[in-house]
Amino acid sequence: MERPIRSLKEELHQPAHQTELPDMGCALDQKRSCCDGIGYRLKTMGSLTHAELCNCVSTCSSCFGKNRKMVDGRSKPCRTPAPSRIVNFINSACLPARYSAARLDSFSNFSGNGREVVTRLSHWYREFDPERPRGLVLGGPVGVGKTYLLCAIAKNFAGKGISVRFIDFFQLLLELKAGYAQDKSDASLLNTLIEVDILFIDELGKGRNSDWELSILDQLVMGRYNRNRIIVASTNYDLKPNTRVNYSTNLDERKPGSFELDRFESLEQRIGPRIYSRLFETSEFMELTGEDFRKRTLEEKLQGLKPQPPGPRRGSI
Ligand SMILES: [Zn+2]
Ligand SMILES: [Zn+2]
Repeated sequence: MERPIRSLKEELHQPAHQTELPDMGCALDQKRSCCDGIGYRLKTMGSLTHAELCNCVSTCSSCFGKNRKMVDGRSKPCRTPAPSRIVNFINSACLPARYSAARLDSFSNFSGNGREVVTRLSHWYREFDPERPRGLVLGGPVGVGKTYLLCAIAKNFAGKGISVRFIDFFQLLLELKAGYAQDKSDASLLNTLIEVDILFIDELGKGRNSDWELSILDQLVMGRYNRNRIIVASTNYDLKPNTRVNYSTNLDERKPGSFELDRFESLEQRIGPRIYSRLFETSEFMELTGEDFRKRTLEEKLQGLKPQPPGPRRGSI
């Protein structure tokens, strides 16, 4: 806690170390502006979002950063979950640095059904029951803000004391391949992804769809399904089930990876009916529509470069 500024006269008559500062309670209860009372701050470190315990917590004159206080003679946590625990969860989540500031209530692409999707997402998040968790698959075209929303939700869960891990599916495949080149098995990385409370998969269905790629996805989805752990995913592919598949017959009849690719690929075609049906059973499916914000930014940039049309210049009168 910062000491009040003291004059030289005060300092001479009563040196600071003799001053009894009133116990204001834990810094967390004072909702200081340094961190708005959450006790940690988010930064970027390389390509990842990084959380740090706020100074107000580590220097708290009441709990000395221990997050414990005495209530009626018994030691109790100042705050649950402890800010240090949230910091650990965020730092293990591997959230992209680009979205370190992402928040559900700051989402701004309302060119499509963004408002409706944010409302539905907030409702799903509020109703989330760790005992009976429901997953989520967020579909939609490139650039509408799916990854932004996934990161915002992941941070919310970490803040609740639920462990999360974010992966870009394509990036995961590259990491596994790099591991093989160094004779590392994929078991330890995959186990981490199976054990975490909520696994976030960005770009589900992206890749070459080879047998190996689908076997990795199968291990992840089935491993988590068997442990009653959910997945929150985004995908660029159509969420609707493939009507040509008859679920009453053998789900494994159509071998994943052997589909002929067409222009209107569905998620089910990409990941195979077995994985799709597990996700369908355990998750909410939502479709986000809207403009591609990257394209819009590019168009705005290009328009800025265009020569002004002839005529009087605005504001020059
Ligand atoms: Zn404290
Ligand atoms: Zn603070």
